[in-house]
Amino acid sequence: MQNCAIVGINWGDEGKGRMVDLLTRDFDVVVRYQGGGNAGHTVINEYGKFALHLLPSGIFRPGVVNILGNGVALDPENLWKEMEEVAAKGVPLSPENLKISDRASILMPWHRELDGLEEARLKDKKFGSTKQGIAPFYSDKYQKKTILAGELLYPQHLKEHLQDLLEWKNLTLTQVYGAPAVTMAELEGWLEAYCEKIKPYICDTGAFLRQAQSQGKKILFEAQLGALRDLDYGIHPYTTSSNAIAAYAPVGSGLPSAKLDAVVGVVKAYSSCVGEGPFTCELFGAEAEALREAGAEYGAKTGRPRRVGPLDIVATRYGVQVQGATCIALTKLDVLSYMDEIPVCAHYRLDGEITDAFPFPARLADAQPVVEYKPGWKCDISGARTWEELPQAARDYVTYVEEQIGCHIGYVSVGPERDSIILR
Ligand code: GDP
Repeated sequence: MQNCAIVGINWGDEGKGRMVDLLTRDFDVVVRYQGGGNAGHTVINEYGKFALHLLPSGIFRPGVVNILGNGVALDPENLWKEMEEVAAKGVPLSPENLKISDRASILMPWHRELDGLEEARLKDKKFGSTKQGIAPFYSDKYQKKTILAGELLYPQHLKEHLQDLLEWKNLTLTQVYGAPAVTMAELEGWLEAYCEKIKPYICDTGAFLRQAQSQGKKILFEAQLGALRDLDYGIHPYTTSSNAIAAYAPVGSGLPSAKLDAVVGVVKAYSSCVGEGPFTCELFGAEAEALREAGAEYGAKTGRPRRVGPLDIVATRYGVQVQGATCIALTKLDVLSYMDEIPVCAHYRLDGEITDAFPFPARLADAQPVVEYKPGWKCDISGARTWEELPQAARDYVTYVEEQIGCHIGYVSVGPERDSIILR
């Protein structure tokens, strides 16, 4: 396969980072095509343990070119911190293996501030934002009120554009939220501290990708979050502000004409969800606590405890369809090993009827889970490296999920390390 997207099927945190880290060995280029510092991909390898928020997960592989595409929320502050962290652990970073699209819009300090101000205004109706400025950023992008990374290379033009934006943004900050105005001097300090550092990496990544494509190079498109958080197809309004689906990969990466040969959808063996909004299969009390502990379900970015529940077949089937997944990676199967019986949310009950259709977002809050139980295996499976080494009950669980969601499970992950994987 030449062009492959790796995407989340559910609410995010499915374990995409470890899958991209694994798959990058077969690719020449890895592109992040949407999102920003609001979610983290956890990667564990010979350099250590990392929570990558903006850097593509191919950054650890020698010879792989990593690209931040035009669709990402380019947060220079978080990106630079992440680059320093990765470089400090001995990972080589240079404009040869990291390229930033000159068409990526820059997430400004006021985006983060406005995110916090709006969540505070909403009080108990808040969206559960990670306050990384993502929603204000994408709003401005679609209003064409952002600075493109490439503008950093033209200082006189940049200054004039910044002045216009500052004047406009200060109206919102001061008159809507009653916050202090941002000064040009503050902005210049921020530009110097972060934007100057990332400048050498900015280039025409579209041209680079077109050339890579014509040379037959293999390109991996790395998504953030999951189908249910997609701006158009997710659980509106509890979605992110960008398109997390595979179909957006060509557009957000800088290669709009690319056709995807494969879409690897990542599904966790149970469900988790961060923040507010309906989560039909949610567990509470001791059962939730046990699963959260077993799966270490605490946010990579925020450290917040994640909401957890059994695998939601209805939502996962919908996610598979929306993503157009051609193959599934089922992660964290080992986490379920402590259970006598494995609960699954097999259907929903809505208006007294049992349904397999994923409801319209506004109806989700009324849906109830129909839970079934599958036999547990009650033994450590983290050492299994072949399908045959898995106990029969674990194989039956995987086969059941595969049949229900209508997509082949090609990878079963049984631990966070690079080699803790079974290829089917
Ligand atoms: P992402 O945003 O989709 O990459 O998800 P996360 O960064 O939240 O990754 C999920 C977490 O689970 C990370 O801490 C991974 O190291 C870990 N992880 C991934 N796959 C497995 C697995 O198969 N078993 C276990 N026990 N942990 C895993």
